[in-house]
Amino acid sequence: MKIWLDGGLQDIETARVSVFDHGLTVGDGIFETVKAVDGRPFALTRHLDRLARSARGLGLPEPDLDEVRRACAAVMDANPMPLGRLRITYTGGHGPLGSDRGEHGPTLVVALGESARRPDSTAAVTVPWTRNERGALTGLKTTSYAENVVALARAREQGATEALFANTVGQLCEGTGSNVFVVLDGEIHTPPVASGCLAGITRALTVEWTGAKETDLPLDVLESAEEVFLTSTLRDVQAVHRVDARELPGAPGPVTAKAMRIFDERAGDDLDP
Ligand code: PLP
Repeated sequence: MKIWLDGGLQDIETARVSVFDHGLTVGDGIFETVKAVDGRPFALTRHLDRLARSARGLGLPEPDLDEVRRACAAVMDANPMPLGRLRITYTGGHGPLGSDRGEHGPTLVVALGESARRPDSTAAVTVPWTRNERGALTGLKTTSYAENVVALARAREQGATEALFANTVGQLCEGTGSNVFVVLDGEIHTPPVASGCLAGITRALTVEWTGAKETDLPLDVLESAEEVFLTSTLRDVQAVHRVDARELPGAPGPVTAKAMRIFDERAGDDLDP
């Protein structure tokens, strides 16, 4: 397995980053997960735009997006697979112990792992912790994911694959690695980015392609919504058949099934929509 590090391809067994890399010591880094279909990246331009936005938000040096593109192409060429997930990680690089940034340049790693098409539906749980809609990192795709790791472990204990957060004012926000949509009176709604959720790329495409509305929603909308679904790079559009103890029999329901169909058709047409 080859990865991209220090400006070129390296063997994963021997590639090394500093143990004082700030991505490791203080989580000072950003990332993207990009779907790779038969060696072609899906929506790469949107992912690179978001990577640059996250870098600006964190005050990291502007990433060289041409290098990131070259790195993605090289890693996919070196590791052919039908469905993969490219992981682009960009950190503050080697630095002093503590939170001050060092003089060294950033670290860029691009790796590829195998992926598989997700089931059409899944279970989700709500968690008692909140997303902060006004934090310094809100909306940035940083490597500080420990809260998501804890919440996802809670979901797994309950036989679910996703945990859903409210924000600090009790509005529905997002999952640990996905955005959330609900169907109310036959119409699709999703929380606005101001709720504190990540501006998901699958979310944006779903809003564009289905006309879903961005609406402030209370967390307990999950108790009454006709249908619930998740979106993410690795899930695409995925129905939810259980939220906490509430079963949603027949998921995907008709509106979700239509959104899934639209997404599959449109996404299949264009790998860089
Ligand atoms: N929200 C969070 C916290 C995420 O980590 C992700 C993806 O990893 C998403 C939402 C969905 O975003 P995208 O559709 O760009 O994968």
